[in-house]
Amino acid sequence: MTQHYDIIIIGSGAGGATFAHALADTGKSILILERGAPLPIEADNWSSKAVFIDRKYRTREEWLDKDGKSFIPNTHYWAGGNTSFYGAALMRMKKNDFEEVQHAGGVSPKWPLSYAEMQPWYDKAEALWEVHGARHIDPQDQADDAPFPYPPLAHDPGVLELKAHFEEIGWHPSPLPLGIRRNDANPPTAPCIRCTTCGGYPCKVLAKVDARTAVLGPALKYPNVTLLTGQMVERIETDASGKRATGVVAMTAQGEVTYTGDLIVTACGAAPSAALWLKSKSAAHPNGLANGSDQVGRHYMFHATSAVIAIAAERFDSTFPKTLCVNDFYFGEPDGGYAYPMGQIQMLEYMSGQTLEGQLSDMLPPSIIPDAFSDALAHRMVAFLAMSEDLPDPNNRVTVEADGQIRLSYTFGDLTAHNRLVKTLEGGISTFVTHHHVISGHHFSVDELLPLYGTAHQCGTLRYGADPAMSVLDMNCKAHEMDNLYAVDSSFFCSSSAVNPTLTIVLWCGLSSRPSQTARPLARRCPPRPRRRRGPPALSR
Ligand SMILES: Cc1cc2nc3c(=O)[nH]c(=O)nc-3n(C[C@H](O)[C@H](O)[C@H](O)COP(=O)(O)OP(=O)(O)OC[C@H]3O[C@@H](n4cnc5c(N)ncnc54)[C@H](O)[C@@H]3O)c2cc1C
Ligand code: SF4
Repeated sequence: MTQHYDIIIIGSGAGGATFAHALADTGKSILILERGAPLPIEADNWSSKAVFIDRKYRTREEWLDKDGKSFIPNTHYWAGGNTSFYGAALMRMKKNDFEEVQHAGGVSPKWPLSYAEMQPWYDKAEALWEVHGARHIDPQDQADDAPFPYPPLAHDPGVLELKAHFEEIGWHPSPLPLGIRRNDANPPTAPCIRCTTCGGYPCKVLAKVDARTAVLGPALKYPNVTLLTGQMVERIETDASGKRATGVVAMTAQGEVTYTGDLIVTACGAAPSAALWLKSKSAAHPNGLANGSDQVGRHYMFHATSAVIAIAAERFDSTFPKTLCVNDFYFGEPDGGYAYPMGQIQMLEYMSGQTLEGQLSDMLPPSIIPDAFSDALAHRMVAFLAMSEDLPDPNNRVTVEADGQIRLSYTFGDLTAHNRLVKTLEGGISTFVTHHHVISGHHFSVDELLPLYGTAHQCGTLRYGADPAMSVLDMNCKAHEMDNLYAVDSSFFCSSSAVNPTLTIVLWCGLSSRPSQTARPLARRCPPRPRRRRGPPALSR
């Protein structure tokens, strides 16, 4: 049986759920189709073994790289998408990220809108996603940026020492903006209990501000919004002219089900959304949906990211170190020594011994690392992410094999600036480890560039822009070639910047005057339909 809705949203992550939330009050029937299940709230949420060694929540799906070698992407298919597992660093892109910027390895393109136009929407996104931070310490903040809605999370003693050290060497460390429901002034009044398993794990007490708690749950309170899980959308169908998407076909436990809709919105994540459009071939769209320009799937970006880890001889006194970042080198060295953007430094979350074993398990089987050793190592770790912009390259692309499998053909671009950032960070930490712990000669640091499976920050595969020959989506994230097909996930990015993507997805896809606001009048024109609710909202079970 075919079921009809005014708006069908495919995917319930940051983009899809925020979009549903933004349109919920229109009264239109909104169907969210999610391939995953509701995420269970259970003891394993906080088990390092379950999460990092058994990889209980990560997909088992295999993708291919450009040479046909398979790998499992670091992605999670559950209601709420990847944000249930994210580190909750909710950062604005910097003012110049919206402009054309010359990098060591090429040009980062200008966005169709400026930072000034995005700024009020960032304020709203920070309010909706409850961001904690402090303004005007980060050298990249703008003078007229509004204060954060919540104060920054307090630094642990080890992080305070590190902050003092960075200040001594002339850096300007600032609080990392975070979506964590924690109140350091009066801890019992907030749900965060400071467990030691946050980034990479789902929050068992729902204290992390993720899509489930910030937007999906609230959207499902409206009787006109329905979430159906276990719905793997296989293709989008169009009318004979190819101008209008008419519905979607989903594979479910009961077999194929067709849903028709007046507006069709994909929010599957950058690579899966592009794959879905490519799979939806028809006579009107022989190269995949809305792909007359051959741009669908191209310009995949995911950040050049290195984990930089120093091991001290003494314990590093923090069980929640991810409260600090350094943006002095974001657009180059402040003293003019290097003129190209280098990126951002961010502290990594606390890792227990088992988390560490899990993280290393691609190289060493956990069974050969004694627990006592991994625990001792974990307690002494001072760990950072060095993250640099990944420039859009049309040859870095998502394609689909004949059987529908995703192929991610990617070659790293010029890493000169990234390597310089890593070396700068290593220099900064090595003096911290030696000076503050008086252990000269008894420390080491490692850095490791995140390989292709690190798809967490994927973006750019359906990029937006004014020129239909060079972009897939128009300024409202509607397909240039179609009347009623939108994409509202990280696929619309035309450059990746060097900050974590979620806040920009949220503001653009759900809040800004663009996709959701242009969809609003379209939604209003849809003929009224009876409201329906298919059982209670089932976000978690
Ligand atoms: C471990 C980890 C840590 C991270 N840390 C941070 C951080 O600190 N800060 C930050 O900003 N970002 C972080 N990210 C990235 C962030 O989670 C993503 O940028 C964000 O979730 C992307 O939102 P999205 O809407 O594009 O896609 P997603 O959140 O991935 O949502 C896509 C949804 O679509 C569903 N779906 C996919 N295909 C189909 C289909 N065919 N049919 C039906 N449903 C489908 C998926 O199951 C999923 O629910 C992290 C990610 C990971 C994995
Ligand atoms: S640290 Fe707080 S927000 Fe993070 S998972 Fe633990 S309880 Fe949840």
